[in-house]
Amino acid sequence: MKKQELQFDDICSLLDINNSADELYALADEITKETKGNTVNVRGIIEFSNYCNRNCAYCGLNCHNTTLGRYRMSPDEIIETALEASDAGYKTAVLQGGEDPWFTADVFCHIIKEIKSKRDIAITLSAGEMSEEDYAAIRKAGCDRYLLKHETTDKDIYSKLHPGYNIDDRLNCLRTLKRLGFETGGGFMIGLPEQTAKTIANDLLFIKSVPCDMAGIGPFIPHPETPLKGCDSGSTELTRRAVAIARILLPDINLPATTSLGVIDKEERNKVFSGGANVIMKKVTPEKYRKLYEIYPVNHGKIKSVAEERAEINELLASIGKEWD
Ligand code: SF4
Repeated sequence: MKKQELQFDDICSLLDINNSADELYALADEITKETKGNTVNVRGIIEFSNYCNRNCAYCGLNCHNTTLGRYRMSPDEIIETALEASDAGYKTAVLQGGEDPWFTADVFCHIIKEIKSKRDIAITLSAGEMSEEDYAAIRKAGCDRYLLKHETTDKDIYSKLHPGYNIDDRLNCLRTLKRLGFETGGGFMIGLPEQTAKTIANDLLFIKSVPCDMAGIGPFIPHPETPLKGCDSGSTELTRRAVAIARILLPDINLPATTSLGVIDKEERNKVFSGGANVIMKKVTPEKYRKLYEIYPVNHGKIKSVAEERAEINELLASIGKEWD
């Protein structure tokens, strides 16, 4: 397989699991080594609130899930956790939460400025859709990156999964974030009901069109307290193919080996580092909140200190021949 501009039909063919993907993975790995070297960026996620106004049909945090205990970290707790993550070696703190109206743009600006005044650390915010004015204020406060997974560009699938919401609003948010100078992250799930190879090809081409600076591509995992509880999880093989295609489409993009891929199969997650991925996200959320941030079911195992868990990630990356930053 040669480096070439992939078109819609090429992408559909590469996503066909009846076709071998060996050459696809080899090319994605070659491009990753050229653009990112052998280094994996490790990023610390602080899940600051599991309150959410929205009703995404796949997500355990959706506002109709009354079985979930809700929590909201205080700004001081968020700042302290980010400082702890920085001291443990993280160079990026990803502040991620539901669409919780308690967190206004002013609150985010305060948190971002405080963290930035105390540590040299990049900040990614992932807090959903906001007005252009709010995004601009957050950017001005020093926020470097914004992650807003679009989940699917298919209008019908999007409206079934997000009753009352419009895909165009979401895609426009991503374009606005890009225009405001954020490193902009999109992303989508593999294995949503009614999704086809054509849907995934359109999702990949949308990421290229923004163009996104990062993309989270992970398998769907059903949550028992959601309308999609009876559905099957997404394919790890298809997820790995989509990551590899994203690397070919956008050689410089940052692509995580997503947490959801690791939840289904850790070996599959590790393989994606030799097929396009160059980022791994690790939760640094305080232990008392971790089990409550359940977009999909996760076995958290024994939760250790932020520094111990960071050391484990470094060991994992060393064991697969990677360096880290
Ligand atoms: S996916 Fe995000 S916006 Fe949707 S319900 Fe979950 S936390 Fe809220």
